[in-house]
Amino acid sequence: MGLVDGPGIRTVFFLQGCPLKCSYCHNPDSQHFMGEKSISVDEVLEMANRYREYYDASGGGVTFSGGEALMQGEFVAEAFKALKANGVSTCLDTSGYGVSRHYDSVLKYTDHILLDIKHVDDEEHLKLTGRNMDGIKHFIDVLSGFGGKVTIRHVMIPGQTDNYEIMDRVLEMVASIKKKVDKIEILPYHKAGDEKYPQLNIPYTFEMVPAMDPVKAQVYEAYINARLETMKTMESEHLKAV
Ligand code: SF4
Repeated sequence: MGLVDGPGIRTVFFLQGCPLKCSYCHNPDSQHFMGEKSISVDEVLEMANRYREYYDASGGGVTFSGGEALMQGEFVAEAFKALKANGVSTCLDTSGYGVSRHYDSVLKYTDHILLDIKHVDDEEHLKLTGRNMDGIKHFIDVLSGFGGKVTIRHVMIPGQTDNYEIMDRVLEMVASIKKKVDKIEILPYHKAGDEKYPQLNIPYTFEMVPAMDPVKAQVYEAYINARLETMKTMESEHLKAV
């Protein structure tokens, strides 16, 4: 059960495997593609039905997260289709890096998207995640045809992305889909997953990076959301004037 993985109370399925290797990943054990358990669409439905009264009372539903759920887009599309047919709201938590031929069929059955923007600079994105920004840029282009809402998320790293220029560039990245964006969440980097790296014998390059001050992150969050609303208002007024 989750309260921060989309609207309302939600059942969250974490799909194994991720094409990114974020330096700050709190779940490095979710990156490899060797899953321990497979699950069918019927099992997803059965679990969702068990908690239906919580969804109905809170406006919640089911979220698919990861790893990276879009790497298993065919299954996500099938599961979301079945959930929607049963009246359950669907949410996709993604970084926008998946198997692109399945994007349209996934989005057709998705109500809400939580979209992580890792960085705004191509070189820094590559350093942080191991991949350039082509994937996220392509996914944002695809979202121009999406009919639901998008919540943008950005993990703020002290000394790296805690500045107003980065906030402005995040806004630029999502400008083309701003009407679908309900809010932008600035998530302060924290140290909760640190102990997993030595356990898994994976080098942790963020060992010396301090946690982000959550109060400062809130200030940036207020700034970026105020600018987002201004952009939306300006566009509506421009359209009225035309
Ligand atoms: S996208 Fe998420 S799961 Fe994948 S490496 Fe980054 S933080 Fe970890």
